[in-house]
Amino acid sequence: MKVLLVGGGGREHALAWKLKRENPDTEIVAAPGNPGIATLGRCVNVSATDVDALVALAEQQRPAFTLVGPEAPLAAGLVDRFRARGLPAFGPTQDAAEIETSKAFAKRLMLDAGVPTARATRHTDPTDAKRAAAALGAPVVVKYSGLAAGKGVVVAHTMRDAERAIDDMLVGHVYGEAEVLVEEFMEGEELSVFYLTDGHAALPLVPAQDHKRLHDGDEGPNTGGMGAYAPVSLDAGDALERIVLPTLGAMRDARRPFTGLLYAGLMLTADGPRVVEFNCRFGDPETQAVLPVMDALGLPLGELMLAIARGDRLPDAGWTVATPPAAVTTVLAAHGYPEKPRTGDPIELPAQVPAGVEIFHAGTKRDADGRLVTAGGRVLAVTAVAPSFDDARATSRAVAESIRFDGRQMRRDIGWREAERLAG
Ligand code: ATP
Repeated sequence: MKVLLVGGGGREHALAWKLKRENPDTEIVAAPGNPGIATLGRCVNVSATDVDALVALAEQQRPAFTLVGPEAPLAAGLVDRFRARGLPAFGPTQDAAEIETSKAFAKRLMLDAGVPTARATRHTDPTDAKRAAAALGAPVVVKYSGLAAGKGVVVAHTMRDAERAIDDMLVGHVYGEAEVLVEEFMEGEELSVFYLTDGHAALPLVPAQDHKRLHDGDEGPNTGGMGAYAPVSLDAGDALERIVLPTLGAMRDARRPFTGLLYAGLMLTADGPRVVEFNCRFGDPETQAVLPVMDALGLPLGELMLAIARGDRLPDAGWTVATPPAAVTTVLAAHGYPEKPRTGDPIELPAQVPAGVEIFHAGTKRDADGRLVTAGGRVLAVTAVAPSFDDARATSRAVAESIRFDGRQMRRDIGWREAERLAG
């Protein structure tokens, strides 16, 4: 089977790796890919957001299906364009991708369908927004409604912070368009669950938790994610029945049936799981932890993704998850990340890594001399899989430490919540 993989980050490297593990005969063509993916398939110099060029590439390559990693091409309507030409693509249409790209749409859908989530109101007027925040009281959450690269959410612990966030988003127009949600603060542990869905049924992968802040102890600025682990010894409870299936039903009713990968960011509150956010694609870096666990369990994804991409229904059987091993992923980021990542620093990889360890490439490239150098904010992700969580954690950190480049940033406490839970 030939697969056209759209994207060039750590998530896409992990997807390529998983497909090859399932079937070494799978032919990967990646656009644009990265040096890690290049060891598994062919990389073509086409940007993940150039939908016209991707259509042309798919028409020329005729893959069994196209697997879209990042949200931007989905938001740009890649799947609609592919389907119109009879090219199978895994991912939601542009309308359905709004479940991620428009927080206002997602919130209205959930509230209308009775899906448990934080109460929220929408505002374009700063005075109204501040009044709504005051009515909820601190802590309160202020969210910019469109895509803001993970930076459009402020959890305000004081009214002053809430007012400042509202002014930044509505008066300062930091993000261009101007609408905010003022949202009730939910207390609890967060859990990320990926669901493969044909629009009707949904199959959960093992749950994960990620680490958004740059520094140990969850300090420092927000990032795309500095690490993740899976599975998590927390119970998502009835999230499938109470959250995911009703959401899929509401999407069908709204004539935006959602197919592909639905990522549910859940808050496990005293009243059960509630939705923090939905994403319309695999998460990064959670994928780099989740897929190696699915691999160790012998659970295949390629055929299921192909079926979904073709518009077929998922088989009824589902899967039973045996006792899973643990995977811990440590991200190595470039100097200056997340503000202003420096590129071009030569990377030294260890000659050998222990069994059960994968090094996924993200922001790397080969320079003119063929040397591997940094080429983006998040550079590499080191995933270690082991029967015990503590072993996976120690190995992931040790191998990450052994990778060298100037200005390297990494956290050394990935999975600290799980470690505390397991220690009782
Ligand atoms: P990303 O896609 O990068 O995760 P985002 O910009 O889409 O971020 P959200 O995931 O909605 O934003 O929120 C970011 C973080 O803010 C959440 O992971 C959570 O920790 C916190 N958060 C958001 N909404 C709430 C809420 N209602 N109550 C408590 N915490 C919240």
